[in-house]
Order: sequence, then C-alpha cells, then structure tokens
Amino acid sequence: MERIAFIGAGPSTIGAALKLIDNKYDGEIIIFEKGNSLDNRLPSEVIEGFAGAGCFSDCKLSSSLTTGSVIPNLTQEELEKYEQEILDYFNRFSPDKLEWSHTSSFDTHTTNLTFDIHKTLHVGSDKGREIFHKMEKFITSQPNVRILFGAEVEDVVDIHDFSGFKHPFIVYYYSKENKWSIEVDKVIVATGQKNTLPGKLIKRFKLATTPRALQLGVRVVDEMNSQYEEIIKANYDFKFVKEYNYKNDVKVKVRTFCCNSGNAHVCAEKASEGFVCFNGHAYKVPDPNNHSVNYGIMCEVSGLKKYNSKEKQIELMKNINNKEHWAEDNFSNNDEVRPVRELLKGFKHLKGYYPKVVIDSLTDFVWELNKLVDLSKAKYLYPEVKLNEGKTIQTTKWESSLKGLYFIGDCNITRGIVKAFLSGLQVAEGLINAT
Ligand SMILES: Cc1cc2nc3c(=O)[nH]c(=O)nc-3n(C[C@H](O)[C@H](O)[C@H](O)COP(=O)(O)OP(=O)(O)OC[C@H]3O[C@@H](n4cnc5c(N)ncnc54)[C@H](O)[C@@H]3O)c2cc1C
Repeated sequence: MERIAFIGAGPSTIGAALKLIDNKYDGEIIIFEKGNSLDNRLPSEVIEGFAGAGCFSDCKLSSSLTTGSVIPNLTQEELEKYEQEILDYFNRFSPDKLEWSHTSSFDTHTTNLTFDIHKTLHVGSDKGREIFHKMEKFITSQPNVRILFGAEVEDVVDIHDFSGFKHPFIVYYYSKENKWSIEVDKVIVATGQKNTLPGKLIKRFKLATTPRALQLGVRVVDEMNSQYEEIIKANYDFKFVKEYNYKNDVKVKVRTFCCNSGNAHVCAEKASEGFVCFNGHAYKVPDPNNHSVNYGIMCEVSGLKKYNSKEKQIELMKNINNKEHWAEDNFSNNDEVRPVRELLKGFKHLKGYYPKVVIDSLTDFVWELNKLVDLSKAKYLYPEVKLNEGKTIQTTKWESSLKGLYFIGDCNITRGIVKAFLSGLQVAEGLINAT
C-alpha cells in the first residue's frame, strides 16, 4: 500500500486530504503537524496547529488568476472550476450557505492606482474556525488518515538508491521530545511561510529554484469613514495596485490587502524567528465602540539581491525592530492626529531600516491613495511582512526536481487560503491519477 506524508496541516494539506478522501484514495495518509488540534489550539498559537495560519485569520477568500500569486499554466476556466470546488468544501462544513460575490469596479481615475477585480467571500474568523474544526473531525475520522499533532518534522532523507528499504523516503520527526522516523513513498511539504524545512531540503537535494520577491510593507489602522465604506462596498478585501520600476531591473508592486473592518483589531506577533511584526484580524462579535478599519500595504520587491534569502530577510526585520524609538513609533501617541504630509515624512524616517525603493514606493502609493480616502488620521504599524525563502522551488504539478518530493501552499509560491487550498486540490489530482 502506498504511504504518503504531508508535512503541515494548513489549508493546502486540508484541500489535498479532502480531495483524496472524496476520491477514495486507498493509500495511507500521514499528516505531521507541529502544532495542536483545534480542540485545544490557543489563540496565541497564531500560525501553528490544524488549519495553520488560516485558523485565526479573518478567512477572507479572494480569488482571481493574479490574487494570491500566479499559478503557472492555470487558466481562467480551470480557476472557476476550483473556485466552485473550494466553495463546495467550505459549504459542506459551514453552518450556513456561503456564496462567492463579485467585486464591483471602483473609480480610480483621479489617481495612478488600479483597482483589482476579483471574486470574494468573507467567511470571518469565528465561522472560519468552526468550518476548519469540522474539516479536522471529518479528516481524522477516516481509517486511512493519521494526523500526528505535536510532531515537528526535522528532516527528510532520500533513500531511493539504497537497498533494504521498502519506501524511497524517511521522514524524521520530533514528538514528545523523542526523535522518530517513518518510511514513506511520497512527501508533500506544506509547511507555510514561517519555517525552515524547505530551505534545508533545497540545499540537501539541490532543488531547482527561481528568485522570489521580498514582501514588506506596513499595516494601516484608520478610523472608518464614508470613503472607506464606499470602497468596502465595492470589495471588502479591496486591492488597489500600482507598479514601480527602478534602475537595475528592480520592480516594486504595491497593493492594499487583508482589510479588516467591523470589530477590527491589529496584533503584534512575535515570529518564531525572533522579531515582531503586525497583522490584522476582525471578529464577528459586534463592538459598537469599534469604528476602525485596518489593512496592509504590501510592497512586493523583485530584483533586490540583498534580500534574496530568508536569513537576510530575518536580519532586516530584526534591524527594523531595533530602530531607535521603534516601539514609540508604533505604539505611543495612538490618538494623535497627524496630517498626511507628516506621515509621508514618517516613511522617510525609515531610511536605513527599510530598503529605499520600499520607502519611495510606499510614499507615492499613500499619496495616491489619499486622493481616494481621507488618510489624515491613519496610523502605520511596521513591519508587516510575508517571509519567504527568497526562492521559489520549481515544480511540475507541484513535484520538485526530486521525484516524489512535492511543495505546496505558501511554503512555495501561493499566498492566501484560496490558492493554498487550490494547490492541495491539484496535488491530490496528481496523486489520484498516478494510482
Ligand atoms: C493572521 C493571519 C491572517 C490571515 N488572513 C487571511 C485571510 O483573511 N484570507 C486569506 O486568504 N489568507 C489569510 N492569511 C494567509 C493564509 O492563512 C495562508 O496563506 C494559508 O494559511 C497558507 O496555507 P498553507 O497550508 O500553505 O500553510 P499554513 O497555513 O502556514 O500551514 C502550515 C502548517 O505547517 C506546520 N508546520 C510548519 N513546519 C512544520 C514542520 N517542520 N513539521 C510539522 N509541521 C510544520 C505549521 O504549524 C502550520 O500549521 C492570513 C495569515 C495570517 C498569519
């Protein structure tokens, strides 16, 4: 019997597991997850545990060919098929019926910004968690699926060329402080953004890679006003976009993303790599006193060799955290109202901490955005970051240059729940077709 291992139990693995189960895949599925089951996962466990980073997210599903990264060779027609499939899976476990809605267009002619049109579905933090919890129960109830919680995979060893073994890979993992190993036929790495395993495997197996953009920005916290209301009516997860070209082929694509309104708040998250960054959330329990909105402004920077590895990106974040007066910049004078001009000067104040192209792009972008929405009371928390290996692993149908070793979800090219889930559906299709 074939035995496959998934490393990580985030949305990408969930998509794959559900599809394998539905297609009566008869091999053995082992899912290694270093965090907890949703039965006892704490809110402080922001990115680890069943449903990964999706669990305590606002569960805003956004979808278009370009939203959440571009998946090679994916056509619009195929995307629509996957959107329906993802909706069906969410609906199967949802307490009420969910529907995709289409974003309306939004007039940006007074600015240099474009407004991205895509499908959207705002599930919300609480309902999202409920749905993932039911998915976990369903997946764990299958006789051929085992989820090992508290099991952190430390290494994967290729034994294709060695005799005396039944399977081509050995997965080494820690559980209850002991080191264990298990032989498997295929390994699907789905460890999300903040982990070290893919980097280790890229080096070990000399996997083919291409450079990946640095993603660094700020989180905007603002008072809700009528202009935001209009924008959010067009698209709850509104995406204004502008691209900047600099010398030496450096390109910066700036976008707004991950908007939270209603009962919105921002968390300072301590990453396991030892730095603090910001992220936004929204809970459905109404809070009549909360009239705030928060969203990210993210710069996707390609061509900056200086930050082409996770280690260098971590160093950059730690340096930003070390900025003199950093905590005060981010936390104090919270109620102070400052004019936009001064805030733009504030970005310049990040000189020496943020790459110059990021400061310049942010400055211009906020200036343009201010033509659409009054930003005079906005506060900017930094850094907001999406760490990555600085490399994308080249895959064919998610299989790397080492046969039997796959990389899906945010640990490779996706961003966001929809594309992570979709990568899982696609890898499952490949595994089903191969049997
Ligand atoms: C606070 C927050 C809010 C977000 N809001 C949204 C949103 O509203 N909408 C949206 O579309 N996206 C949102 N995202 C992004 C979204 O959650 C991710 O894109 C998505 O979860 C990626 O899925 P994944 O399966 O690739 O990885 P992840 O969800 O990151 O899951 C990876 C899993 O692997 C486990 N793992 C890592 N290393 C190991 C190891 N060595 N051994 C065993 N297990 C390991 C981790 O514990 C984790 O559970 C948000 C993210 C965060 C952090």
